[in-house]
Amino acid sequence: MAGPLSWTDEPDGDEPPVRIGLHRVRIALVRPHRSAHHTVRDRESILVRWERSDGHVGWGECPTLVSAGYATETTDQAWAALVDRLLPEALASGRVAADPARPAACGALRDARLDARLRVDGVGLGGLVGAPATLPGTGVVASVGDDPTDVAAATLAVVATGSAVVKVKVVPATALEVVDAVLDAVGPVPLALDANGSFEPGEHDGILARLLAAPLRYLEQPFGPSVPQSAWSELAARGGVPLAVDESATSVEAVRGLVLDGACSVVSIKPARLGGLAAAARAASELSSLGASCFVGGMFELGVGRSSALRLAGAPWFDLPTDLGPSARYVALDVTEPVVDDAGRLVVPDGPGCALHPVPERLTAAEVERVEIVRR
Ligand SMILES: [Mg+2]
Repeated sequence: MAGPLSWTDEPDGDEPPVRIGLHRVRIALVRPHRSAHHTVRDRESILVRWERSDGHVGWGECPTLVSAGYATETTDQAWAALVDRLLPEALASGRVAADPARPAACGALRDARLDARLRVDGVGLGGLVGAPATLPGTGVVASVGDDPTDVAAATLAVVATGSAVVKVKVVPATALEVVDAVLDAVGPVPLALDANGSFEPGEHDGILARLLAAPLRYLEQPFGPSVPQSAWSELAARGGVPLAVDESATSVEAVRGLVLDGACSVVSIKPARLGGLAAAARAASELSSLGASCFVGGMFELGVGRSSALRLAGAPWFDLPTDLGPSARYVALDVTEPVVDDAGRLVVPDGPGCALHPVPERLTAAEVERVEIVRR
C-alpha cells in the first residue's frame, strides 16, 4: 500500500520547522492503572508541536511513563533526548536523528512533522489507509491485585461499553482465579489476557497449561522480552491459545523469528515503541505478510497520540480490534475532544493530518513544563 510519504522516516524535500514546542502534561486518571509493571495514578505525557514556515502546525505525542519496562525509555529520558539533541537537529535540518534507545521521543517528533505535512495538502491519515468511520475496540481491564470478583465486575463494566474483545491484565499468582471469575461473568464475549511478561518458563508451566486450555482469543506477552525464543516455541507447540507479543515488539527484527517459527501469531503494533506512525506501518505491513495477526496496541496515549494511532488502526494490515479505547475510560479530562460516539464506538477522525490538536485551555491547565525552540 502506498502511504504518506511512502512510510519513510525521513521524507526528502521538507524544510526545517520554524519552531518546535515541547509540552509536558499531567492529567489525573479516573482510577489507578495496575499491571504487572506498575501502578499509575496520573498520566504524564510529552506533546510535541511542529510549526512550518507556511503556518501549518502538527502535533505528536511521546506516551512514555515515569518508569521504564513498558516503553523503551522513561519520560525523563525522552524529554532529555528531545531537548538536548533531537530538537536542535530537527530545527537545523528538518530531520529526526535515528536513536534506537529513544523510539518514543523520535516517533513523537516524526509524527508531529507528518501531521503538519499532511495538513499542507489537506489529506488525512485515515483516508490514506482506507480506514472506516468507526472501529471495534478491545477494552482493557488493568486491575492486577484486585479480588477476582472485583476484576470480573470491572470486566463486565467494560463489556457494557461495547468492546468487541476484552483484555484482562494478569499475573501468575492470581491468573487462574481471575480467568475463572471473568469467564463466569462475561459468558461468550471474546476474552484475551495480558501477562506483561510476568511468567517464567519452567516456573509457571502448570498455570500456563491451564490458561492455554481456556477459551481465550490470545495470551499476550506471557514471558519477558529477554526470554529466549526456544521457550516461546515450546509454549506455542503445546497448542491451544495463540501467543501474542507486545513488549517484545520493539522492531520487526525483534519478532520476525518468533513469527516465522510459529512461536507467536499475534503482534501488538505500538507506534511510539517502534519509532512513530511510519515505522509502525512498515512493521505491520511486513509482519502481516508473514502471517501474523496484528492490532494497534495502546500505550495509554492522550488524545493526540491516541487519535493518530486510531487512524492507523483502520489500515487493512490490522485484523484484530485495537486496544486503543476512548481516553475517557482512563483520564478525567483529555487535552483533545473525545474520540468516541454516543454508542461507545471508536470514531476514526476524518479531518486532515494525523492527530487531533489540543484544546488550548485544556493544554494550559494540564501543562507542567514547556520548552520552545525557534529557528534563527
Ligand atoms: Mg500488553
